[in-house]
Amino acid sequence: MKTQAMYLSDCAHASATFGRDADSGEWAERVARARALRLNDARILLVDDSPDNQLLFSRILKAAGAQVEIAENGQQAIDKASLALSYDLIIMDIRMPIVDGYEATRRIRELGFQGPIIALTAHAVVGEEERCRAAGCSDFQLKPIDRYSLLSAAARSLGL
Ligand SMILES: [Mg+2]
Repeated sequence: MKTQAMYLSDCAHASATFGRDADSGEWAERVARARALRLNDARILLVDDSPDNQLLFSRILKAAGAQVEIAENGQQAIDKASLALSYDLIIMDIRMPIVDGYEATRRIRELGFQGPIIALTAHAVVGEEERCRAAGCSDFQLKPIDRYSLLSAAARSLGL
């Protein structure tokens, strides 16, 4: 199984080989479209227990102009959200130690956060999206996720 880092490195490789075949051309177009997406200083809380994902996703979001804070698990996310409900967007991993993404989302909604929460999960089973939405997530994206899909989901959630 590919790690997120390998997947994103594939995307970068595909863009570097633009024009050699139709597939890489498609990737290059996605990379170009991703580059054009701007997140206008949005304050994003990125919740993920994987250091690789924290690094990759925050780099992508920051390069698009967002301000990013990281929480390593659901409890940290709840703590940060209880201190400041001023996030414009929360990106929430579902599988995490201590407090998972479903519970963290429920509790952050109870705190009064009304902004968008994008669930991000590698757990592609039937009913998973419904479970995330029932917990209070407003969007659902599967990992691995490429730069364009991440940024376009963020932009859509932010109404940009
Ligand atoms: Mg996880």
